[in-house]
Amino acid sequence: MTLTHAYAAQSATTPLAPFTFERRTPTARDVAIDILHCGVCHSDLHTAKSEWGPAVFPCVPGHEIVGRVTAIGGDVSKFKVGDIVGVGCMVDSCQHCQPCADGLEQYCDNGMTGTYNSQEQVSRANTLGGYSDHIVVFEKFVLKVSHDEKDLAAVAPLLCAGITTYSPLRHWKVGPGHKVGIVGLGGLGHMGVKIAAALGAHVVLFTTSPGKSADALRLGAKEVVVSKNADEMKAHKNSFDFILNTVAASHDLDPFLALLKMDGTMTLVGAPSTPHPSPGVFGLITKRRSIAGSMIGGIPETQEMLDFCAKHNIVSDIEVIKMSQINEAYERMLRNDVKYRFVIDMSTVQQAHK
Ligand code: NAP
Ligand code: ZN
Repeated sequence: MTLTHAYAAQSATTPLAPFTFERRTPTARDVAIDILHCGVCHSDLHTAKSEWGPAVFPCVPGHEIVGRVTAIGGDVSKFKVGDIVGVGCMVDSCQHCQPCADGLEQYCDNGMTGTYNSQEQVSRANTLGGYSDHIVVFEKFVLKVSHDEKDLAAVAPLLCAGITTYSPLRHWKVGPGHKVGIVGLGGLGHMGVKIAAALGAHVVLFTTSPGKSADALRLGAKEVVVSKNADEMKAHKNSFDFILNTVAASHDLDPFLALLKMDGTMTLVGAPSTPHPSPGVFGLITKRRSIAGSMIGGIPETQEMLDFCAKHNIVSDIEVIKMSQINEAYERMLRNDVKYRFVIDMSTVQQAHK
């Protein structure tokens, strides 16, 4: 057992605060990791505030983890002590259903084990995530990081924001010649812009924040549309092959559906706590349009995404924070004041305990 320093929410209405607990002793299949950096995802906030249903408390969020291997179990072959590794949104799954066999563990028929607020496969203990200085993870759910060491803080958000946008962009075969919309320039959205541009698409960013336009163009968008401006929206009617919607709040989907060309798809990855208003059927049937959803990505695809990003020099645009600044970071996230991902410097967690 290893004493672990963390930050936890003790209830849905109290701020995160210092918390210590013991990680399990690594088994033969486990990798023990000292966490260097952990990104701050809007899902952390949704969970800690019980917005997706009651969370299990104490709740230690964090699923964008980059760290250094400190020990390995006897059966571990992919990693050695000292390696730089990543851990994303999952730490285990049943390993015997069809989705697991297909490397789509996020869709495990028996329920994948999330990195936090989830149940371990055997012990059913509640999992505690990356706002902590140490974690023990089944080798199969540990990723190799090949980016330059100076970029490691900015690599952390790839473990959720990166894969959650990469996976649907690949599934819907986005590439050269495609006009692709990304809705929302937050943590996920800014990775969506970078990755869709790297895949060769013509990227249009939809935002409710006109002040983000220059950043969107710098990140790889060719055009920016302020989605509250009906005339700007209308100019793009029937023209998109694919739209990736990353918005964290309930909103009207119809104005975006009207922008899809025939057989176009809008995929929802944003997961607001209250449903979107039901879309009008005519927006779908008149051009055989589809609305779809997508959740993170499987382990093989997450490795593919990390390697793709390393090859294309893609990292996240980040603001590094101390562990003690997490509650302020959540408040800023709710005001859409994130450029474009907070990442916790985990060397500050022990100091926050003093
Ligand atoms: P984020 O950094 O807070 O970004 C969300 C963006 O949505 C904001 O920056 C803002 O962009 C836009 N937005 C916020 N409120 C809005 C509103 N009322 N109307 C229209 N646009 C609004 O959040 P994130 O970390 O990227 O996460 C986004 C969502 O994806 C969250 O719900 C999260 O839980 C979910 N998520 C899903 C998966 C999955 O597997 N499907 C994985 C990770 C996260 P603009 O200022 O540009 O308008
Ligand atoms: Zn996330």
